[in-house]
Amino acid sequence: MDNEKRKIAYSALKPTGDLQLGNYIGALRNMVAMQEQFDCVYTVADMHSITVDVVPSELRRRSYDFMALFLAIGLDPKKSILFVQSHVPAHAELTWVLNCNTMIGEANRMTQYKDKSRKAGKAGINVGLFDYPVLMASDILLYQADYVPIGKDQQQHLELARTIAERFNNRYSPTFVVPEGYYGTKSTSKIYSLTDPTAKMGKTDDNLNGVVFLLDDADTIRRKFARAVTDSEHEIKSSPTKPGITNLLNIYSVMTGKTVKAAEKEFDGASYEKFKTVVGEAVIEYLRPIQAEYKRYIGDKAELERIMKEGAERASYIARKTLSKVYRKVGFIV
Ligand code: AMP
Repeated sequence: MDNEKRKIAYSALKPTGDLQLGNYIGALRNMVAMQEQFDCVYTVADMHSITVDVVPSELRRRSYDFMALFLAIGLDPKKSILFVQSHVPAHAELTWVLNCNTMIGEANRMTQYKDKSRKAGKAGINVGLFDYPVLMASDILLYQADYVPIGKDQQQHLELARTIAERFNNRYSPTFVVPEGYYGTKSTSKIYSLTDPTAKMGKTDDNLNGVVFLLDDADTIRRKFARAVTDSEHEIKSSPTKPGITNLLNIYSVMTGKTVKAAEKEFDGASYEKFKTVVGEAVIEYLRPIQAEYKRYIGDKAELERIMKEGAERASYIARKTLSKVYRKVGFIV
C-alpha cells in the first residue's frame, strides 16, 4: 500500500479579489483535506489575473496574501507543492505549444469567455482572456495531474484541457495524463452573499457588505452579520424558500462542525438578531487562528519568499520534465 503511487491533484486560485469565506468553504478547505489523500500542487495563479484589468501593486500584494493565507489555513509545503505561477516559466512555454493544438472554434465556445467579453464593453477584450483556458490546460497538464477539484464554472475549461491532452496524445504519442474533475471530500456548499442570498458570495459586482473576507477584523464581521438579509418570518429553518436563513445555517454548520439539523434545534425559538450575532461570532472565532497565522507569515516576507522559491523549484522540476518531453515530440531541438 505504502509504495503505491499517490494520485496527483492540481488546483489554483487567481489573486484577483481578496479571499473570502465562499472561497474557503467552496475550495480552500477541500484543498487542505486533499493533502491527506493526494500529492497536491497548489498555485497562486497570478498569470491568469492579468487577463483582466488589475492594479499591479494590488496584484503583488494579493499574491503574497494568498500564499500567506494558503499556509495559514493549513496548506503544508512539506506535503504539497505551493508556488506562484509566474515563477515557473514552463506554464507560458507549454501554453504556446498547446495553442497550436487548440482549435479556434473550441476556444470560442467557452461560455466564461463569452460572458466576460460581453461584459467587457468599450474596454475591449484582450487575447489573454480568450487564451485563458489554454493556459489553464497547461497548468494542469504540466504536472500530469489526475484530478482537478472544480466547481461548475470550471467544468467546460477542464473538458477543453482533456480534449487538448487527448489530441496531443493521439497526434504525437501518449504524453499527458488526461485529468478528471474531483468533486470534494466534504460536501461543497455554495455560500451566498449576506446582502443578496440568491447571488454567490464574492462575485466582483457583489455589494461588499455581503462578502466576508478572510482578513476582515472582528468588528467588520460583526457588522456584516448584523446586516445580513433574512426574511419577514421568524423561523430558523433551512428551506429553499428561505435563502438568507439557509445560507447562515450553512455557514454556521461549517464553522462549528455541527449539522444544519442540530443548528436548527439550537436556535429553535431564537430571534433572527440573536441568530445572526451567534453566527457572526462563530465566524470570528473560526478565523481568529487563521488570521494570527497569516499575520505571522506576512510579517516575515523573507520566510514567505523562501517558501515561494522552494515551491517554484519543486514545481519547475516536474514542469520541465513534461515540457522537454513535449518539445522533443513536436520536433524542437532539446
Ligand atoms: P473565484 O474567486 O470565483 O475564482 O473562485 C475560486 C474558487 O472558490 C472556486 O473553486 C469557486 O468555486 C470557489 N468559490 C468562490 N466563491 C464561492 C462561494 N460563494 N461559494 C462556494 N465556493 C466559492
